[in-house]
Amino acid sequence: MRRYSAFAIAREAVRYHQGWERAWRSPAPKPAYEVVVVGAGGHGLATAYYLARNHGITDVAVLEKGWLGGGNTGRNTTIIRSNYLQDASAAIYEKARALYETMSRDLNMNVMFSPRGVLMLAQTEHEKRGYLRTAQANRLQGVATEFIGPERVKELVPIINISGPRYPVLGALWQPRGGTARHDAVAWAYARACSAMGVDIIQKCEVTGITQERGRVTGVETTRGHIGAKKLAIVVAGHSGVLAEMAGFRLPIESVALQALVSEPIKPAIDVVVMANTVHGYMSQSDKGELVIGGGADGYNNYTQRGSFHHIEETVRALVETFPIISRLRMMRQWGGIVDMTGDRSPILSKTPLAGCYINAGWGTGGFKSIPGSGWAMAELVAKDAPGPLAAPFGLERFREGRFIDESVAAGVAH
Ligand SMILES: Cc1cc2nc3c(=O)[nH]c(=O)nc-3n(C[C@H](O)[C@H](O)[C@H](O)COP(=O)(O)OP(=O)(O)OC[C@H]3O[C@@H](n4cnc5c(N)ncnc54)[C@H](O)[C@@H]3O)c2cc1C
Repeated sequence: MRRYSAFAIAREAVRYHQGWERAWRSPAPKPAYEVVVVGAGGHGLATAYYLARNHGITDVAVLEKGWLGGGNTGRNTTIIRSNYLQDASAAIYEKARALYETMSRDLNMNVMFSPRGVLMLAQTEHEKRGYLRTAQANRLQGVATEFIGPERVKELVPIINISGPRYPVLGALWQPRGGTARHDAVAWAYARACSAMGVDIIQKCEVTGITQERGRVTGVETTRGHIGAKKLAIVVAGHSGVLAEMAGFRLPIESVALQALVSEPIKPAIDVVVMANTVHGYMSQSDKGELVIGGGADGYNNYTQRGSFHHIEETVRALVETFPIISRLRMMRQWGGIVDMTGDRSPILSKTPLAGCYINAGWGTGGFKSIPGSGWAMAELVAKDAPGPLAAPFGLERFREGRFIDESVAAGVAH
């Protein structure tokens, strides 16, 4: 793989950009691999990358039914933060956030990580108490956050109305090194780095069945034939239940559409990410000038993967008191993705009842931010057939044992 650099851009400029090579190979599937990863979203690609980089396992295929990054990884609003309440969550999300800091350099592709700061507004006394508690927990966990008052919020976000009649701003949980990154670039960067290390990324290859012998996985049936696998990692977000059924077990997961929309582009107006979880809305501004707006998940389970009109109305209505300027904006585009929600709003990184089969799911509305940490932890689980410290608390057995990792405040609405 040729490195991307300022020198490479200059070289290609003088030869009319004829010398760029494809970012990743498109090989035909081999009959069998040591590890097959199902799903070329951020989590599947990051799993394959860290399998190769951290554990030297390169006989890996990533199978994708559509195009890589075409699932939730390419549909989210790109918020990155690690201000969760529970220690297990803070550990994996902060690991991910820290990896984002150096990702462009590590993967030799600009993922446009922008640590512009994330604010989670407190708009009720109850919410304020919750965020004060989270700020204390974060201090103990070594996650840099603080609770700030309404005047400081106004300084950071001049367009905000802090004295709304229904939901005045009482303060906010502020994570200055949270922010955003370019979601497609994250998927592309992992794909390119994987491919360079010998991992096969096979697009338009849907897994339709999982083969097993005496309780152990032996491979997958796909639209491109049978592919053998000593180990299988299921990393398919909203389709986790479908794949689990193929493997013969059930998951405590519901699949729900989550939607977002963008406004017409305007001049720079807001240079932080703001989440208003009481009213179910959040906003940031993209480099193109669009306001990127999202809300809560649909209230019913479905696999539709598209937007709906009622959602635009609900989300804009929720935000207009706090951000009056959006009443004058035209909305340009909306879309949806299918997210995988667990009851405690925490992910699953786990062995499964089928030997050699592992699952990474349940990131729900907030798994873009965790891609590097999740891939790191999942690769360790698959390579060693045992979870490392980051994955250990997120095993499937916690649902049987009632050992929940309750993040309903940090992840119930917030992304
Ligand atoms: C509107 C919206 C906004 C969001 N905002 C944020 C945010 O601001 N911050 C944040 O952290 N998170 C956010 N999220 C959540 C985040 O996008 C997801 O948690 C994350 O992208 C999940 O990544 P993934 O790799 O697990 O799944 P995906 O990117 O969905 O990848 C799974 C892949 O599996 C493939 N697949 C499924 N079935 C099969 C099969 N049978 N065979 C082969 N391939 C298969 C799919 O095609 C898909 O490409 C948002 C999500 C949405 C929808």
